Amino acid sequence: MGGGLEDARSGRLKSRYSGGFAEIEDVPFARHDLLGTGYAFGAVQTTRGCPLNCSFCSVTAFNGARYRQRLVPDVVREFQMIREKRILVVDDNLIGTRASHIARAKDLFRSLMRADVRKEWVAQTTINFADDEELMALASRAGCRGVFIGFESPTPQGLRELGKKFNLLKNRDFRASVRRIQKHNILVVGSFATA
Ligand code: SF4
Repeated sequence: MGGGLEDARSGRLKSRYSGGFAEIEDVPFARHDLLGTGYAFGAVQTTRGCPLNCSFCSVTAFNGARYRQRLVPDVVREFQMIREKRILVVDDNLIGTRASHIARAKDLFRSLMRADVRKEWVAQTTINFADDEELMALASRAGCRGVFIGFESPTPQGLRELGKKFNLLKNRDFRASVRRIQKHNILVVGSFATA
């Protein structure tokens, strides 16, 4: 970055500078104390990046293909710093794509319970959320009240056209998956895309 300032001072600005992606452990806590009051939701980010690169989505290009995860104690601390009773977890996919990502999500939910954070929150996940009873139960007990899920299309042909291979490969029953999530008192908001 300093190089860019020096280039500007000497009138030799390049047309483009790229700093790469920050290591997520180095990202400082958001200054929630500087925000105004009276919002319905506070917001927190716990992960960045997505390897799935669906054809209609900007996340892989914008935040990278590597799924980067903040340290769980830092996330719990930030939950505690937020004044609002309700929190929007802005991650594009809170549970990631691998077993280790799901283990980390469970660790986060257990830690929120242990810290007695007492917030209600909503998050974005993939439909794989519905495949793990323990994950859903822990999320619910940790305050999860709703999940936003990108179904994108109800048909295999639609999923193929949209490049949403992740949902297609599973060849799953969406209706049954939604019912499983709802049984944990978690609301499901579906997102559908057009080709
Ligand atoms: S899985 Fe979700 S976040 Fe990842 S690329 Fe596809 S739409 Fe975007």
